[in-house]
Amino acid sequence: MNQARHLTGLTQAELTAFVEEMGEPAFRGRQIFASLHQRRLRSFDEMTDLPKSFRARLTERARSATLTIESRYISEDGTRRYLMKTHDGLPVETVFIPEERRDTICFSSQSGCPLQCSFCLTAKLGLLRTLTAGEIVEQIIIALNDAYGEGEKTPRGTNLVAMGAGEPFLAFDPLMKALRIMADPKGLHIVPNRVTVSTAGIVPRIRELATIEDRPHLAISLAAPTDELRNELMPINKKWPLEELLAACKEFERSLKPAERFTFEYVMLDGVNDTDEHARQLANLLNRHGLRAKVNLIPHNPADPLPYHPSLPERVESFKGILESKGVHAFVRRPRGRDIYAACGQLAARRPAANPREPALHQLT
Ligand code: SAH
Repeated sequence: MNQARHLTGLTQAELTAFVEEMGEPAFRGRQIFASLHQRRLRSFDEMTDLPKSFRARLTERARSATLTIESRYISEDGTRRYLMKTHDGLPVETVFIPEERRDTICFSSQSGCPLQCSFCLTAKLGLLRTLTAGEIVEQIIIALNDAYGEGEKTPRGTNLVAMGAGEPFLAFDPLMKALRIMADPKGLHIVPNRVTVSTAGIVPRIRELATIEDRPHLAISLAAPTDELRNELMPINKKWPLEELLAACKEFERSLKPAERFTFEYVMLDGVNDTDEHARQLANLLNRHGLRAKVNLIPHNPADPLPYHPSLPERVESFKGILESKGVHAFVRRPRGRDIYAACGQLAARRPAANPREPALHQLT
């Protein structure tokens, strides 16, 4: 397996070069690319437009798919969580979130996560491994095939968010490569403008992203308005404290297109970071840096053994009101898929015992 090339992680140009090395004409590379990404086929056997002998040689040298699906959980709100395994046995989770306007797929950039945010269940896994570009792309293919049927067109396009397990900016190269592959009009054709990448605040990468022309949108997980509190909740803050983080955000803001905004995410922990005073501190902090970002307030998604509770709805409203009175745009996010461990910060390869809504897993592989 390890020697075999994972073709889903190759750009169209790389795939063409690969088939040429095998002594095949370039168009075979384009054919395989379309089969993998446009028709979303998972096995060489299904690529019946390729000669049988070539398919046999491909099977020896390459893999079209490496993730296997272990379970699928379906929430009462329609959200679906896929628990998958890499070829080396590590968990990967992806969440499909049906929405009124356009469905969203939340994918993982790492198996587990090295950051030790105190409110996040994924942190409990530690870092198992950074995913490859191919493993990132495969997650989207699997979710699309399950939601719409293999190769079926997505009715209204798809939004992607790199908000699953892991820190995307510690998976920067495979992530950016995956985005290039997915943007190809001959493949999935999901352009960076449909993608949002969320970071806990890896400052050098925020600055780097600002220099990239065709890039995804940015979201930053803040969780606290002071270094003292943020150090406690998100230890990465000790490396890149708020002043440095917001200075990088300001630089990023200068590179935005006129109507474009970036987002701060603020998880709301009952009695910890959700008082009126915290709201004033947060608004002042953003205003002092002259940031015209918006803030998404995310009530905490509880999960044993995390020592937090979600802020009460009135608290969230009061917090939001203070931000708005100081000119900061704030939105309250409705949690999705909490009942199946699919919501923000709940991805930790959990296997809920009873899942009555779970139909058979056939058609899934
Ligand atoms: N590591 C990246 C990508 C993960 S995104 C990042 O930190 O941005 C996951 C989002 O969910 C982050 O904004 C995080 O702050 C938030 N989050 C984590 N645990 C949560 C929980 N238990 N409840 C609600 N939001 C949570």
